[in-house]
Amino acid sequence: MSEIYDRQVKLFGEKKQNELEDSLVLLLGCGALGSQVANNLARAGVNLRIVDRDIVEESNLHRTLFSRNDIGKPKAEAMEEILDRSSEVDVEVVVDDFSSFNWDSYVEDVDIVVDCSDNMSTRYLLNRVSLKESIPWIHGSVVRYEGRSITFIPGQGSCFRCLYPEKPSPGSLETCHSAGIFNPIASFIASYQASETLKYLADIGQMNQNLLVADFSKNSLRFVEVGTKDGCVCSKDTVKIDTEEDILIRKTCEGYQVTSRTDSLDLEKIQERYGGELRCIFLQLTFSGEDVVLFENGRMQIKTDSKQRAKSIYTKILGV
Ligand SMILES: [Zn+2]
Repeated sequence: MSEIYDRQVKLFGEKKQNELEDSLVLLLGCGALGSQVANNLARAGVNLRIVDRDIVEESNLHRTLFSRNDIGKPKAEAMEEILDRSSEVDVEVVVDDFSSFNWDSYVEDVDIVVDCSDNMSTRYLLNRVSLKESIPWIHGSVVRYEGRSITFIPGQGSCFRCLYPEKPSPGSLETCHSAGIFNPIASFIASYQASETLKYLADIGQMNQNLLVADFSKNSLRFVEVGTKDGCVCSKDTVKIDTEEDILIRKTCEGYQVTSRTDSLDLEKIQERYGGELRCIFLQLTFSGEDVVLFENGRMQIKTDSKQRAKSIYTKILGV
């Protein structure tokens, strides 16, 4: 056995170490949470499949493990290079979305999924996939000084939809882009997610099936019990994966058009966060160097030649 794991084997023995080394974890997202979860898991001996569609930008450096040399590279590939230098696990990377069209190939042979994504659509889809395939997952989210995490195990207690029955309307949630983020809260939630993952894989201690809510501005740590909701998707015998929660993307002559189900957007609120020029039914702005036009009915036109970048900008602005 590799010397790398010496202190860990002293802690919980060779059998559990072997279990970690035989496991495969799917990481959805490789930013503030994902890069730090990947680092902990790989150094502990866990094989990883990392799915992320984004590119490393300078503004990511304050809360991730990336360096200046990584700017412009896909996050998943930059992470693979970092892990290559520091661990000896198998790392598979996918520079793409997790969507209702491709989820099945990503969850193949996976023991557990860690949600390090930045949007609710991915989480609602992952919830359905988890229930359908009986794969547990660990939710994590951070914004401002606050972070949340909970572990969902199909057949045991609540699911994500019990916790958040109604999908929030686009633009109603704050994001790291609009509200900022205190970087220690990201490290804390990432550590917590890595801990839950290692405990699950090596069968150590008790899992956290309550919602951890941490607010570092108030020194507050709470565990909130989440009950199961009557009629929730987790109570059904069969779970369908459909496009109900998907964001739709279409190529246009000017770039990409992105839409999702919404009644109407509060464009004034979005303008307060991101600036731009408001013209009766649309808001025109520049985001991460791209020209964006956002309509009241939730349709967004983005001048970019990358489909992944278009979807990424849409979810970053609207937090869905
Ligand atoms: Zn449920």
